[in-house]
Amino acid sequence: MTANSESLVMYVDMNSYFASCEQQRHPELRGKPLGVLTYDSPNAAVIAASVEAKNAGVKTGMRLGDCRALCPGMLTTTTHPGWYRQIHVDIMAILRYYCDEVIPKSIDEAVLNFNSYRLVYNDLTDVAKQIKADIAKKYDYLKCSIGIAPNSFLAKVGTELQKRDGLVRITTDNIDEHLATLKLTDLPGIASANERRLNMIGIKTPVQMRHSSPALLRKAFGGVVGNYWYHRLNFAEVDLYSKAENRTMSATRTLSSKQSQDRQVLESMLISLCTRLEQRLVKSNLFCKELSFSIRYKDYTRWDTVIKLADPVQDAMEMIGYIKERIAHFEYTRNVTTVFTDKTMNLGVGIQSFVKGDVMQYSLFDNRMRKDVVRKVMYQIKDRFEHKNIVRKGGELYIPEVMKDAIGFGSVRDMNIKEGEVKNKYMLEEEGIPRPALVRPKVAPKPKEPELYYDGDPIFTDFIPDDE
Ligand SMILES: [Mg+2]
Repeated sequence: MTANSESLVMYVDMNSYFASCEQQRHPELRGKPLGVLTYDSPNAAVIAASVEAKNAGVKTGMRLGDCRALCPGMLTTTTHPGWYRQIHVDIMAILRYYCDEVIPKSIDEAVLNFNSYRLVYNDLTDVAKQIKADIAKKYDYLKCSIGIAPNSFLAKVGTELQKRDGLVRITTDNIDEHLATLKLTDLPGIASANERRLNMIGIKTPVQMRHSSPALLRKAFGGVVGNYWYHRLNFAEVDLYSKAENRTMSATRTLSSKQSQDRQVLESMLISLCTRLEQRLVKSNLFCKELSFSIRYKDYTRWDTVIKLADPVQDAMEMIGYIKERIAHFEYTRNVTTVFTDKTMNLGVGIQSFVKGDVMQYSLFDNRMRKDVVRKVMYQIKDRFEHKNIVRKGGELYIPEVMKDAIGFGSVRDMNIKEGEVKNKYMLEEEGIPRPALVRPKVAPKPKEPELYYDGDPIFTDFIPDDE
């Protein structure tokens, strides 16, 4: 990793993007406090606020009622994703006029890598001004903050330094001056948990952090992540290419109070989450070598676990097997009745460390290859026929009514995110199939080593804790 002394990376961040897009299209909303909502309801949360609303104290994520208390005159509108995407496309086209290497980071942010343009532009500040002018010509109400720095992380920091219509160039000479105006939590990626870790080893400010040794930062972050932080703050590029596609996939569900009372419902949710990830893996011909599972409770505490696998998996029932083994191990060794308490608010499963299906190594002595073929064929059959449940795995039949419910509220969000891609299509229609009888063993089974191969029994009765 080499440090770069020249400031050749630019970060462009549109200001109050969704709200400004609305104000762009509706001039009567300009200059007024505006909150953008996903759906129109008194309980809705504002997902974006105009500058005027922000000035009155409105923040992203606030409930409408709280916003109105701070800013009684706030106007509201629901989102128009198609319009935001259209403007995104136009802005990316403007950026690509100046630089071949434009990497969109989100709908309203992009990084431009000018490292191969050393001899083309004398001063990137001029390029930034030209970009702002070009955007204004197309969309006169849209403003952006631009940061220029030796790496993409510091360029993003540059966009945080001046919020409205900003332009900041961070160099090896002025960096400490700029960092001195920031708190640790102003750095992207440093939230309160990381702040606490840094404080514990005596680092209180970004300037101190930059001048700390990699060894000290490794101590704070518990490993190689500390090195990344050292490099970020000392001009090396760590972030630009690390976000490879499909780096992680995850699925989460929030539960109602009633749902969290029923252990069977919780376990069915787990099936539905893993099945969803399985669908995505099959579709992209990937397997994963790392699983994570988390439970968030109503009091904001959480239980999570990361499972590294010797053999990559794709099968939902296998994922569940590993997760349940880990849970059983925890419950057994800590003498906890169940991690799925009635305070459970949210379940999440994540997968990462992907392996391409065509380079999968099959070991000689398991029946994995046959299972993988069966799974592929099952999805091919589902694709051939209108009715997606023409064929299903035994394990999917656990509590179909709950699974339908679980899909219902998660999929709407999913469908909004990616245009033209309806995820979960295999599970959109479910039928009431009688719930199989449960077998409840009296005590938890002896925990197995979690990293060992799980001899996946697709019927979901291998572990039910003795909670009565
Ligand atoms: Mg923005």
